[in-house]
Amino acid sequence: MANFPSNIPFHLFASCIPVKGANRSAIYDLQRNQFEYIPNPLYDILTRFKNITFIDLLDFFPFKNDQRVLLEYFEFLKNNEFIFFSKLNSAQFPKYSISHERPYNISCLILDIENFHETKFEAIKRQILKAKVEFIIFRFISPTTSINIKNVLTFFNNIPTRIFQLFIENKNFTENLDFENLINLNERVSVIVKYNCEKELVQDLEKATLIHTKRDIVNNKMNINNIADFNVNMNLFIESQLYNSFYNKRVYIDSEGFIYRHEGDIMDFGNIINVELTNILENVEFKKYWHITKDEISVCKDCEYRYMCVDSSLPMSKTNNLWKLDRECNYNPYNSEWKSAYPTEDN
Ligand code: SF4
Repeated sequence: MANFPSNIPFHLFASCIPVKGANRSAIYDLQRNQFEYIPNPLYDILTRFKNITFIDLLDFFPFKNDQRVLLEYFEFLKNNEFIFFSKLNSAQFPKYSISHERPYNISCLILDIENFHETKFEAIKRQILKAKVEFIIFRFISPTTSINIKNVLTFFNNIPTRIFQLFIENKNFTENLDFENLINLNERVSVIVKYNCEKELVQDLEKATLIHTKRDIVNNKMNINNIADFNVNMNLFIESQLYNSFYNKRVYIDSEGFIYRHEGDIMDFGNIINVELTNILENVEFKKYWHITKDEISVCKDCEYRYMCVDSSLPMSKTNNLWKLDRECNYNPYNSEWKSAYPTEDN
């Protein structure tokens, strides 16, 4: 006996989107920012059948055992509020449009800082205002003081960039920093990350989050270690289908002012003191990785996580229209297993 209206056509909520992987699929719930795994046969049912009742669907599955499994699938979908029931045609329920128009030319600017250097910072600020930047990561890469951090935050207080993050290496603290006080200097600081710490810890401050991590997030590339590294949200879901979720509109400026496509890039594109960032953003070579989606990358194209994953592996070469990354992922979408050797949050 079904615990849902089995004689009324079922529909997926527009914010619940099935994504197929090689071995299993997932339903992304873009309203609640979470996901659930589903088996691939259920993905096929959800994407193939429209405007049909559960009772009529059973006709396609004559074996009793299949019908029993189908009932379990639908109870799961109903209990998780992925589906609803209506006699209206599914065409009447609006779908999300896949467009990623943003008022920014740079989505993420990473700025390495050794000392407060007014001439260089004046040039950077002028160029940030011209280029329009959504999000800035200030990385204090050498021993720093609260005066240094305060100077930087105060200096960049009057730009329209919406989000700031601070990355500070644990050993680079030369004094006890009052984080609450620092955040009050610039209310757009949403996250402070202390890296190379002895343990993992997340602290909620009044207006931001303070993360202690054991990872060396500056000198090692951000790779995917476990499902905690994924992020289900509408912007990322849409961006991942159109662009590379890590490299798109990313700019890295080192502590001497040289401009790169990303951290660890081997080619610089001039110095912020004497070249225009807006001109560099038009350079085809600078934008080389922006449009390489996970659907065009070998292995990732078969992964159910591909629209929630911001892995930083670099697309290196292309064969048969598929890019190959510079390293193997910790996750294997063909057997849904993580490599046993990868470091977890607990070790
Ligand atoms: S296979 Fe690709 S999409 Fe999947 S987790 Fe690894 S990097 Fe992300």
